[in-house]
Amino acid sequence: MLFALFCGLLLSVASLQQRLPENVPGDFFVDATCIDCDTCSQLAPEIFRDHGDQCSVHHQPQNAEEVRRAMMALVSCPTGSIGATESHDAHIGIDAFPMPIDENVYFCGFTSESSFGGWSYLINRPAGEGGNILIDSPRFASQLVKRIDAMGGVSRMLLTHKDDVADHELFRKRFHCDRVMHAADGAARLGVEQVVEGADPVQLDEDLLVIPTPGHTRGHVVFLYRNKFLFTGDHLAWSPARQTLTAFRSVAWYSWPEQTRSMAKLLSYEFEWVLPGHGDIGHDDARSMHDHLERCVSWMKTVK
Ligand code: SF4
Repeated sequence: MLFALFCGLLLSVASLQQRLPENVPGDFFVDATCIDCDTCSQLAPEIFRDHGDQCSVHHQPQNAEEVRRAMMALVSCPTGSIGATESHDAHIGIDAFPMPIDENVYFCGFTSESSFGGWSYLINRPAGEGGNILIDSPRFASQLVKRIDAMGGVSRMLLTHKDDVADHELFRKRFHCDRVMHAADGAARLGVEQVVEGADPVQLDEDLLVIPTPGHTRGHVVFLYRNKFLFTGDHLAWSPARQTLTAFRSVAWYSWPEQTRSMAKLLSYEFEWVLPGHGDIGHDDARSMHDHLERCVSWMKTVK
Protein backbone atom coordinates (compact mmCIF):
# COMPACT_ATOMS: atom_id res chain seq x y z
CA MET A 1 0.00 0.00 0.00
CA LEU A 2 1.31 3.47 -0.89
CA PHE A 3 0.71 6.67 1.01
CA ALA A 4 0.33 10.13 -0.51
CA LEU A 5 -0.30 13.62 0.77
CA PHE A 6 -3.60 15.14 -0.29
CA CYS A 7 -3.61 18.78 0.88
CA GLY A 8 -1.59 17.87 3.97
CA LEU A 9 -3.51 14.66 4.72
CA LEU A 10 -1.78 11.31 4.54
CA LEU A 11 -3.93 8.80 2.69
CA SER A 12 -3.21 5.33 1.40
CA VAL A 13 -3.61 5.32 -2.36
CA ALA A 14 -3.16 3.07 -5.35
CA SER A 15 -0.03 2.52 -7.39
CA LEU A 16 -0.02 3.80 -10.97
CA GLN A 17 2.33 0.94 -11.90
CA GLN A 18 -0.37 -1.52 -10.85
CA ARG A 19 -3.23 0.28 -12.64
CA LEU A 20 -5.71 -2.33 -13.87
CA PRO A 21 -6.12 -2.47 -17.67
CA GLU A 22 -9.93 -2.52 -17.24
CA ASN A 23 -9.90 1.16 -16.14
CA VAL A 24 -10.89 3.66 -18.83
CA PRO A 25 -8.06 6.14 -19.56
CA GLY A 26 -7.94 9.27 -17.41
CA ASP A 27 -7.49 10.64 -13.91
CA PHE A 28 -9.01 8.07 -11.51
CA PHE A 29 -8.06 4.39 -11.49
CA VAL A 30 -8.14 1.18 -9.44
CA ASP A 31 -4.99 -0.89 -9.00
CA ALA A 32 -4.31 -4.62 -8.71
CA THR A 33 -4.65 -4.64 -4.90
CA CYS A 34 -8.47 -4.35 -5.16
CA ILE A 35 -10.17 -7.07 -3.07
CA ASP A 36 -13.54 -6.69 -4.85
CA CYS A 37 -15.49 -5.53 -1.80
CA ASP A 38 -17.77 -3.44 -4.08
CA THR A 39 -17.73 -0.40 -1.79
CA CYS A 40 -16.75 1.89 -4.69
CA SER A 41 -19.26 0.44 -7.17
CA GLN A 42 -22.07 0.76 -4.60
CA LEU A 43 -21.06 4.25 -3.47
CA ALA A 44 -20.32 5.70 -6.92
CA PRO A 45 -21.79 3.37 -9.57
CA GLU A 46 -21.59 6.16 -12.13
CA ILE A 47 -17.75 5.99 -11.84
CA PHE A 48 -16.86 2.44 -10.71
CA ARG A 49 -18.10 -0.98 -11.78
CA ASP A 50 -17.40 -4.55 -10.83
CA HIS A 51 -15.87 -6.00 -14.00
CA GLY A 52 -15.63 -9.56 -12.65
CA ASP A 53 -13.46 -10.30 -9.67
CA GLN A 54 -12.28 -6.72 -9.18
CA CYS A 55 -13.57 -3.18 -9.70
CA SER A 56 -12.39 -0.50 -12.11
CA VAL A 57 -13.27 2.98 -13.38
CA HIS A 58 -15.75 2.80 -16.26
CA HIS A 59 -16.43 6.55 -16.46
CA GLN A 60 -14.06 9.37 -15.52
CA PRO A 61 -15.61 12.15 -13.38
CA GLN A 62 -16.79 15.03 -15.59
CA ASN A 63 -17.97 17.52 -12.99
CA ALA A 64 -17.52 18.52 -9.34
CA GLU A 65 -20.20 16.16 -8.04
CA GLU A 66 -18.67 13.16 -9.83
CA VAL A 67 -15.20 14.07 -8.47
CA ARG A 68 -16.74 14.24 -4.99
CA ARG A 69 -18.25 10.75 -5.36
CA ALA A 70 -14.92 9.38 -6.67
CA MET A 71 -13.09 10.92 -3.69
CA MET A 72 -15.66 9.45 -1.28
CA ALA A 73 -14.91 6.03 -2.78
CA LEU A 74 -11.15 6.72 -2.54
CA VAL A 75 -11.27 7.43 1.20
CA SER A 76 -13.70 4.56 1.81
CA CYS A 77 -11.71 1.90 -0.06
CA PRO A 78 -10.40 -0.56 2.58
CA THR A 79 -7.18 -1.34 0.71
CA GLY A 80 -6.16 2.04 -0.71
CA SER A 81 -6.67 0.61 -4.19
CA ILE A 82 -8.12 3.78 -5.75
CA GLY A 83 -5.82 6.51 -7.01
CA ALA A 84 -5.82 9.66 -9.12
CA THR A 85 -3.13 11.13 -11.33
CA GLU A 86 -4.34 14.70 -10.79
CA SER A 87 -4.27 16.56 -7.48
CA HIS A 88 -7.54 16.65 -5.47
CA ASP A 89 -8.44 18.00 -2.05
CA ALA A 90 -8.89 14.92 0.17
CA HIS A 91 -11.42 16.83 2.25
CA ILE A 92 -13.86 16.55 -0.64
CA GLY A 93 -14.13 12.85 0.24
CA ILE A 94 -13.41 12.95 3.97
CA ASP A 95 -15.92 15.68 4.82
CA ALA A 96 -18.72 13.71 3.16
CA PHE A 97 -18.65 11.21 6.05
CA PRO A 98 -20.56 10.23 8.04
CA MET A 99 -22.94 10.42 5.06
CA PRO A 100 -26.64 11.03 5.82
CA ILE A 101 -29.00 8.23 4.76
CA ASP A 102 -32.33 9.18 6.33
CA GLU A 103 -33.45 10.92 9.52
CA ASN A 104 -30.57 10.51 12.02
CA VAL A 105 -28.93 7.49 10.36
CA TYR A 106 -25.57 7.82 8.57
CA PHE A 107 -23.16 5.64 6.58
CA CYS A 108 -19.64 5.90 8.03
CA GLY A 109 -17.53 5.26 4.90
CA PHE A 110 -13.86 4.45 5.71
CA THR A 111 -14.30 0.68 5.47
CA SER A 112 -11.77 -1.71 6.95
CA GLU A 113 -9.84 -4.45 5.19
CA SER A 114 -10.19 -6.72 8.23
CA SER A 115 -13.97 -6.77 7.71
CA PHE A 116 -13.51 -7.08 3.91
CA GLY A 117 -14.85 -3.59 3.34
CA GLY A 118 -17.99 -4.16 5.47
CA TRP A 119 -20.19 -1.08 5.82
CA SER A 120 -20.88 0.49 9.21
CA TYR A 121 -23.51 3.01 10.25
CA LEU A 122 -24.01 5.73 12.87
CA ILE A 123 -27.26 6.62 14.62
CA ASN A 124 -26.93 10.22 15.79
CA ARG A 125 -28.96 10.81 18.99
CA PRO A 126 -28.71 13.47 21.70
CA ALA A 127 -27.07 12.35 24.96
CA GLY A 128 -30.49 12.62 26.65
CA GLU A 129 -31.79 9.92 24.32
CA GLY A 130 -28.86 7.60 25.02
CA GLY A 131 -26.25 9.10 22.69
CA ASN A 132 -24.81 7.91 19.41
CA ILE A 133 -24.76 4.30 18.28
CA LEU A 134 -22.20 2.78 15.93
CA ILE A 135 -23.35 -0.32 14.07
CA ASP A 136 -20.37 -2.51 13.19
CA SER A 137 -16.93 -1.01 12.96
CA PRO A 138 -15.44 1.30 10.34
CA ARG A 139 -11.68 1.73 10.03
CA PHE A 140 -10.31 3.70 12.99
CA ALA A 141 -9.18 6.54 10.73
CA SER A 142 -8.32 9.76 12.59
CA GLN A 143 -10.27 11.91 10.10
CA LEU A 144 -13.45 9.88 10.67
CA VAL A 145 -12.94 9.58 14.44
CA LYS A 146 -12.66 13.39 14.70
CA ARG A 147 -15.90 13.83 12.79
CA ILE A 148 -17.75 11.26 14.91
CA ASP A 149 -16.38 12.95 18.02
CA ALA A 150 -17.76 16.29 16.81
CA MET A 151 -21.16 14.63 16.38
CA GLY A 152 -21.15 13.51 20.03
CA GLY A 153 -18.86 10.45 20.04
CA VAL A 154 -20.12 6.89 20.49
CA SER A 155 -22.06 5.70 23.52
CA ARG A 156 -22.82 2.20 22.28
CA MET A 157 -21.47 -0.09 19.59
CA LEU A 158 -23.65 -2.83 18.07
CA LEU A 159 -21.84 -5.72 16.43
CA THR A 160 -23.88 -7.85 14.03
CA HIS A 161 -21.38 -10.72 13.87
CA LYS A 162 -17.76 -11.70 14.30
CA ASP A 163 -16.55 -10.95 10.72
CA ASP A 164 -17.30 -7.23 10.81
CA VAL A 165 -15.88 -6.16 14.19
CA ALA A 166 -12.76 -4.54 12.62
CA ASP A 167 -11.43 -1.80 14.95
CA HIS A 168 -14.08 -2.23 17.68
CA GLU A 169 -11.45 -2.25 20.44
CA LEU A 170 -10.02 1.11 19.33
CA PHE A 171 -13.49 2.69 19.30
CA ARG A 172 -14.17 1.23 22.75
CA LYS A 173 -10.88 2.66 24.04
CA ARG A 174 -11.44 6.09 22.46
CA PHE A 175 -15.13 6.59 23.34
CA HIS A 176 -15.62 4.17 26.30
CA CYS A 177 -18.68 2.81 24.53
CA ASP A 178 -20.33 -0.45 25.60
CA ARG A 179 -20.39 -3.08 22.88
CA VAL A 180 -23.32 -5.44 22.20
CA MET A 181 -22.86 -8.82 20.52
CA HIS A 182 -24.20 -12.38 20.63
CA ALA A 183 -22.46 -14.98 22.80
CA ALA A 184 -22.36 -17.55 20.00
CA ASP A 185 -20.03 -15.33 17.92
CA GLY A 186 -17.38 -15.17 20.64
CA ALA A 187 -18.56 -11.98 22.39
CA ALA A 188 -16.93 -12.98 25.69
CA ARG A 189 -13.59 -13.68 24.01
CA LEU A 190 -13.71 -10.21 22.42
CA GLY A 191 -14.39 -8.61 25.81
CA VAL A 192 -17.84 -7.35 24.81
CA GLU A 193 -19.71 -5.61 27.67
CA GLN A 194 -23.32 -6.60 26.82
CA VAL A 195 -23.59 -10.20 25.66
CA VAL A 196 -26.84 -11.34 24.03
CA GLU A 197 -27.76 -14.99 24.48
CA GLY A 198 -30.34 -17.38 23.06
CA ALA A 199 -32.78 -17.02 20.18
CA ASP A 200 -35.22 -14.44 21.58
CA PRO A 201 -35.18 -10.74 20.64
CA VAL A 202 -33.79 -8.35 23.22
CA GLN A 203 -35.04 -4.78 23.65
CA LEU A 204 -31.99 -2.53 23.99
CA ASP A 205 -33.92 0.74 24.06
CA GLU A 206 -37.57 1.62 23.58
CA ASP A 207 -36.99 1.91 19.82
CA LEU A 208 -34.04 -0.45 19.41
CA LEU A 209 -34.28 -4.22 19.20
CA VAL A 210 -31.67 -6.94 18.69
CA ILE A 211 -32.98 -9.97 16.80
CA PRO A 212 -30.83 -13.14 16.70
CA THR A 213 -30.53 -14.36 13.09
CA PRO A 214 -28.16 -17.36 13.02
CA GLY A 215 -27.12 -18.54 9.57
CA HIS A 216 -24.25 -16.52 8.13
CA THR A 217 -22.57 -17.17 11.48
CA ARG A 218 -23.90 -18.98 14.54
CA GLY A 219 -24.22 -15.77 16.56
CA HIS A 220 -25.35 -13.35 13.84
CA VAL A 221 -27.92 -10.73 14.91
CA VAL A 222 -29.71 -7.84 13.20
CA PHE A 223 -30.74 -4.56 14.84
CA LEU A 224 -34.11 -2.88 14.28
CA TYR A 225 -34.34 0.84 15.02
CA ARG A 226 -37.64 2.78 15.10
CA ASN A 227 -39.37 -0.07 13.23
CA LYS A 228 -37.85 1.55 10.17
CA PHE A 229 -34.12 0.85 9.92
CA LEU A 230 -32.96 -2.77 9.84
CA PHE A 231 -29.18 -3.14 10.20
CA THR A 232 -28.59 -6.54 8.67
CA GLY A 233 -24.84 -7.28 8.72
CA ASP A 234 -24.32 -10.16 6.29
CA HIS A 235 -27.81 -11.63 6.75
CA LEU A 236 -29.91 -9.71 4.22
CA ALA A 237 -29.28 -7.18 1.43
CA TRP A 238 -30.86 -5.68 -1.68
CA SER A 239 -30.23 -7.25 -5.08
CA PRO A 240 -30.08 -4.55 -7.81
CA ALA A 241 -30.13 -7.30 -10.46
CA ARG A 242 -33.32 -8.95 -9.16
CA GLN A 243 -34.81 -5.76 -7.68
CA THR A 244 -35.72 -7.48 -4.43
CA LEU A 245 -34.20 -8.61 -1.13
CA THR A 246 -31.61 -11.37 -1.16
CA ALA A 247 -29.20 -13.41 0.96
CA PHE A 248 -25.82 -14.87 0.08
CA ARG A 249 -25.78 -18.69 -0.09
CA SER A 250 -22.03 -18.92 -0.77
CA VAL A 251 -21.16 -17.22 2.53
CA ALA A 252 -23.68 -18.95 4.81
CA TRP A 253 -20.74 -20.18 6.88
CA TYR A 254 -22.85 -21.65 9.69
CA SER A 255 -26.07 -22.94 8.09
CA TRP A 256 -28.23 -21.96 5.11
CA PRO A 257 -31.37 -23.76 6.44
CA GLU A 258 -30.87 -21.91 9.74
CA GLN A 259 -30.45 -18.61 7.88
CA THR A 260 -33.68 -19.32 5.98
CA ARG A 261 -35.53 -19.87 9.28
CA SER A 262 -33.98 -16.67 10.68
CA MET A 263 -35.15 -14.80 7.59
CA ALA A 264 -38.73 -16.05 8.05
CA LYS A 265 -38.65 -14.71 11.64
CA LEU A 266 -38.14 -11.20 10.30
CA LEU A 267 -41.58 -11.34 8.64
CA SER A 268 -43.03 -10.41 12.06
CA TYR A 269 -41.29 -7.02 11.99
CA GLU A 270 -41.83 -3.79 10.11
CA PHE A 271 -39.01 -1.92 8.38
CA GLU A 272 -38.37 0.35 5.40
CA TRP A 273 -34.59 0.32 5.14
CA VAL A 274 -32.23 -2.66 4.85
CA LEU A 275 -28.73 -1.48 5.76
CA PRO A 276 -26.26 -4.33 5.25
CA GLY A 277 -22.56 -4.81 5.97
CA HIS A 278 -22.03 -6.34 2.54
CA GLY A 279 -24.31 -5.99 -0.43
CA ASP A 280 -26.55 -3.13 -1.50
CA ILE A 281 -28.79 -0.95 0.65
CA GLY A 282 -32.54 -1.45 0.09
CA HIS A 283 -35.35 1.05 0.67
CA ASP A 284 -39.09 0.84 0.11
CA ASP A 285 -42.29 1.35 2.07
CA ALA A 286 -42.94 -1.16 4.88
CA ARG A 287 -45.65 -3.08 2.97
CA SER A 288 -43.41 -3.52 -0.08
CA MET A 289 -40.45 -4.52 2.09
CA HIS A 290 -42.61 -7.21 3.67
CA ASP A 291 -43.50 -8.51 0.18
CA HIS A 292 -39.81 -8.48 -0.81
CA LEU A 293 -38.94 -10.40 2.34
CA GLU A 294 -41.63 -13.01 1.66
CA ARG A 295 -40.20 -13.45 -1.85
CA CYS A 296 -36.70 -13.77 -0.40
CA VAL A 297 -37.76 -16.47 2.08
CA SER A 298 -39.56 -18.44 -0.67
CA TRP A 299 -36.49 -18.19 -2.89
CA MET A 300 -34.15 -19.27 -0.07
CA LYS A 301 -36.25 -22.41 0.45
CA THR A 302 -35.56 -23.42 -3.18
CA VAL A 303 -31.78 -23.03 -2.83
CA LYS A 304 -29.83 -26.00 -1.48
S1 SF4 B 1 -13.52 -0.08 -2.68
FE1 SF4 B 1 -11.39 -0.61 -3.15
S2 SF4 B 1 -11.19 -2.79 -2.64
FE2 SF4 B 1 -13.36 -2.32 -2.70
S3 SF4 B 1 -13.96 -2.86 -4.81
FE3 SF4 B 1 -13.45 -0.67 -4.83
S4 SF4 B 1 -11.30 -0.54 -5.36
FE4 SF4 B 1 -11.73 -2.66 -4.79
